[in-house]
Amino acid sequence: MQKQDAIVVGAGPYGLSIAAYLQEADVEPYVIGRPMAFWKEHMPRRMLLRSHIEASSIAAPHEQLSLAAYQRMTGSPVTEPIPVEDFIAYGQWFQRQVVRNLDTRQVRSIAYDGDVFALSLEDGERLLARSVVLALGIGLFTHRPPQFAHVPRELAPHSSDLADPAQFRGKRVAVLGRGQSALEGAALLHESGADVEILTRSAGIEYLAYPWRTKLFRKLTPGPLTRFSHMVIPPTDLGRFRTVRIIADPDKFRRRSPEAQAALAKVATKPIGAYWLPTRLKGVPVRAGVRVERVDVVADGLKLALSDGGTTCVDRVVLGTGYTVDVSKYDILDGSLRRAIRTCDDGYPVLTTGLQTSVNGLYMAGVIGEKALGPTLRFVTGTSNAGPRVAAAIAGKPVRR
Ligand SMILES: Cc1cc2nc3c(=O)[nH]c(=O)nc-3n(C[C@H](O)[C@H](O)[C@H](O)COP(=O)(O)OP(=O)(O)OC[C@H]3O[C@@H](n4cnc5c(N)ncnc54)[C@H](O)[C@@H]3O)c2cc1C
Repeated sequence: MQKQDAIVVGAGPYGLSIAAYLQEADVEPYVIGRPMAFWKEHMPRRMLLRSHIEASSIAAPHEQLSLAAYQRMTGSPVTEPIPVEDFIAYGQWFQRQVVRNLDTRQVRSIAYDGDVFALSLEDGERLLARSVVLALGIGLFTHRPPQFAHVPRELAPHSSDLADPAQFRGKRVAVLGRGQSALEGAALLHESGADVEILTRSAGIEYLAYPWRTKLFRKLTPGPLTRFSHMVIPPTDLGRFRTVRIIADPDKFRRRSPEAQAALAKVATKPIGAYWLPTRLKGVPVRAGVRVERVDVVADGLKLALSDGGTTCVDRVVLGTGYTVDVSKYDILDGSLRRAIRTCDDGYPVLTTGLQTSVNGLYMAGVIGEKALGPTLRFVTGTSNAGPRVAAAIAGKPVRR
């Protein structure tokens, strides 16, 4: 059986970006995954991306693969805020440029004999590789609060399972949470004719201000981003004016103490809505400072007992309750391989700066690498940090960023 140098599992932004950097390093990867599948199948239709255009390019060693180049070459204009359909079209275009022979089969299991990885695919075929990169995304890590453990998923979907908000037209829907996914989901449900209420444990909802500082700076320095532009306001678009440069750069991030790193991660991933949401959520009631204590499945929906002593009856609940990263949820790894991966107490794998696990040749990219390279890895913009580092580690030589 032919042995591949590197197999990349995942054809979302991370898998595709890493494939482009591996090619730059003269390693031709074998890429498996359905292109942009999570974005196509899980994100709500008509969703707007919170990240700006410059933070939404899938990183590659050549400018011809940026979102700006996509617009130039295809003549498809992408406006800001970016509609999810446009971003998916860009990701699929990127895939066609970089990975012509994408294998869209599911990987069922991965085993390791101490030298070579063996991947079993859905149709029973086996592939062998010296290195494997897992870029499986955030979808495996959805967090469902324990009060909802007994509730069927159709009655209480997670916000990452809200592909068609129109199906809730005319229904009473409680949205739990105050992050971007929860709030954008609430706005789309409201616009689709659902009777929406937002419930949050915190004292209220916060929205980002219009990024006038960045917009003004980009207006004053038109054209492609230069080194200088990166130094003043990097495109990653995460954090405040004082922290944005540290968060953008994994080397600066890693030099901070663990406590400072945790504080920076909190700033970058704080639950907060985009600046365009307040107008869209006008008229949607918000119940702040309440927790859902108990959930009963009743004949016509769900009855929620709240921490303020009140109850509310709804047809559906949307759980905008975030994600809990835990490498043990990677159930495609066979038991002994999973046990060989060193983990931190909180379930993240211990990774090198090249995103290699403690198993030689096994790499993990995307949100699972955020402890190693910082919070950019939770977003598309972090592909610029992950791609060159993973490719350099596999190829054993520096790779153009
Ligand atoms: C509602 C919502 C809104 C978001 N908005 C933004 C935003 O505006 N900006 C932003 O930067 N980020 C946003 N994100 C975060 C975004 O999901 C990630 O940044 C991005 O998808 C990470 O890319 P990825 O390549 O790691 O994973 P994904 O895009 O999830 O891709 C995973 C890939 O792995 C493949 N795969 C998984 N398991 C297997 C298997 N067993 N076998 C074969 N293939 C497999 C899938 O087919 C897919 O190709 C949002 C997330 C959500 C949920």
